Amino acid sequence: MKFLVLGGGSAGWLTAMFLQKTYKSAEIVVVEDPKTPPIIAGESGSVAVNSLLNFLEIDMDEWIKETNAVPKLGGKLVNWDSVGTHFWHALSDSKYALADWDENRTTIQSNMHYLSCVLADNISFEEVFYCWPLMEQNKLPIVLNEENQLVSVLKQPMFHFDSRAQAAYLKKLGLERNITLIEGRYINSIKDEKGNISSINLEDGRTISADWFFDCSGFARLLLKKEMGAKFNDYTDFFPARSAVAWWADSELKSYTEITAMKYGWSWNINLQHRSGNGYLYDPDLISVEQAVAEAEEYYGIKIDPVAKVTFTPSLTETSWVNNVIAIGLSSGFLEPLESNGLSQVVAQIELLERFWTPIDHNQKQCDLYNKYQLALMYEILVFLCLHYRTHRRDSEYWLSHAYDKNRIPDSLKQDLEMWSNGILIDDRDNLRVFSLESIAQVTSGLNLINREKLKASILSKNPNRFESFYRHQNDLSIEIKNIVNLCCSVNKWAEIF
Ligand SMILES: Cc1cc2nc3c(=O)[nH]c(=O)nc-3n(C[C@H](O)[C@H](O)[C@H](O)COP(=O)(O)OP(=O)(O)OC[C@H]3O[C@@H](n4cnc5c(N)ncnc54)[C@H](O)[C@@H]3O)c2cc1C
Repeated sequence: MKFLVLGGGSAGWLTAMFLQKTYKSAEIVVVEDPKTPPIIAGESGSVAVNSLLNFLEIDMDEWIKETNAVPKLGGKLVNWDSVGTHFWHALSDSKYALADWDENRTTIQSNMHYLSCVLADNISFEEVFYCWPLMEQNKLPIVLNEENQLVSVLKQPMFHFDSRAQAAYLKKLGLERNITLIEGRYINSIKDEKGNISSINLEDGRTISADWFFDCSGFARLLLKKEMGAKFNDYTDFFPARSAVAWWADSELKSYTEITAMKYGWSWNINLQHRSGNGYLYDPDLISVEQAVAEAEEYYGIKIDPVAKVTFTPSLTETSWVNNVIAIGLSSGFLEPLESNGLSQVVAQIELLERFWTPIDHNQKQCDLYNKYQLALMYEILVFLCLHYRTHRRDSEYWLSHAYDKNRIPDSLKQDLEMWSNGILIDDRDNLRVFSLESIAQVTSGLNLINREKLKASILSKNPNRFESFYRHQNDLSIEIKNIVNLCCSVNKWAEIF
C-alpha cells in the first residue's frame, strides 16, 4: 500500500506522520515543491494541535525549542464590541464543572447551568476560568518548584510557534521515521478508467504512482479541485476580509494572542521567542494593501516591512474526499484565520480519517459519512467565526456592512442570536467538536449579545433558590483561582528558565 501526500506544509507533514504511525507497513511519500514554501502564517495553535503532537509522540520540549514556541492560554480581543473595549477568550477548563452543585445532571448540563448563572449575574469570567487572570497578569499555569524547575499545574497550555520552523521540524522527524521526501513541482495527474488518480507527473519528468493521494497543496488545491473537480462554495459574503498582509517585529512575550478589530478587518499579534508574527486581514474591496499597512503603522506606532501578502476566497467544499483523493488543510477549504481554526481543522480532519477511512478499498458510504462530518465541522467553525462580527461597531463601511447586511449571517446564528436576546443560553451543542460552550459563552458575553435580565428571570422561574447554591460554590471557586494564580510564574520567567 502506498500513500502520496502532495504538499510539505503543516498539513502535509502532520498527515504523513499520522499515516506513518497508523499504517505501519504502508509506504509514505511526501512530494513538495521547494520553490513554493509553506505559507508564512498559522502560528497560533490550539488544544487539538497539542493532542495530535502527543499522539505522534513528538517530544514537546524539543518541539518548543525547534519552533521557538511560547505557551498561550487564549486571546485578548481588543476593540471588537466598540473601540476602547476588550474581552478575553480563555482556554476553558473543567475546574468549575467539578462542582457538584447541580445534582443528577451530566457535566454538560451542569456546566451550562453554571455558565447561565455566571452570565445572568454578569460575573467576570476572571472568577470562573483561571486562564483569564493568568492572561491578564501575563502568567502561565506553571509553577517553580523548590529546585527551580518548571512544573505544569492544571491544564497544558496551547502554543504560538514559528510555522515554517514547525514544517521543517516535522520534515526532519518524518524523514527519520522513514517517510520518503520527493522534491519537485507537480504538473498534472494520470487517472484510471474509474476516475481514480493512478500517478502524478512532476515538472522534471518523474512520474510517481500511489494507491491514495492526500491533497495538502494549500490554496493551490491541485488534486481535489483541479483534478477531481470538487466544487467550492464561496463565503465572501460572510467573510469580506480576505486579504492579509503579514510582518515581523520584535517580540514582547505574552501568554495570549492579541486580536485587534481594525477599521476594515482585524489584526493579529503573536509573540514567539525570537520575533513576533503580525498581520492585518482586511477587506480588499474597501482598502488597498498600502492603506492596510498605513492603518496598522499608525495603530501600532511602528514602521512595517511586509513579509507576506495573500488574497484568498473564503470557501468550503462539500466533498473533500473524492475517489482516492482526500484533501487536508487549506486545500480542503478555509474561511479565515480568526480563533486559530486552520490547524484545528487539520487535526479534526485527521481524526475523521481515523474514524471513517480505510485504505483497503474505496467504500462510498464511508466516503459520504466522512464528507458529511467534515462539512459539519467546517460549518461549526463558520458559525463561530461569524459570531465575532455581530459587534456594535459602526465606525466604517466594513463594520456597517456586517451589521446591516442580512446575507452576512448564517440562519443557525440568526436563531442563536434570537435565543440569546431572549435570555436563553444555547443548550443544543452536543455535536461540538472544535469550539466549546465555554468559548461561545465568552464571545457572546464579550460582544454583549445576551440579555442578562431575561436570563436571570428565566433561571429564577425554574428554581428561585438557584443563585444561593451558585454563590456558595462561586465564592470558593474565586478564592481557589486567586490562590492558584498567585503561585504561577510569568511568561518571561518561563522563557528565562525553559
Ligand atoms: C493569513 C492566514 C493566517 C493564518 N493563521 C493561522 C493561525 O494563527 N492558526 C492556525 O491554526 N491556522 C492559521 N492559518 C491556517 C494555517 O496557515 C494552515 O491551516 C496551515 O499552515 C496548513 O497549511 P497547508 O499545509 O494546508 O498549506 P501550505 O503551508 O500552503 O503548504 C502547501 C504545500 O504545498 C506545496 N505545493 C504547492 N504547489 C505545489 C506544486 N505545484 N508541486 C508540489 N508541491 C506544491 C508547497 O510546497 C507547500 O509545501 C492561517 C492562514 C492564513 C491564510
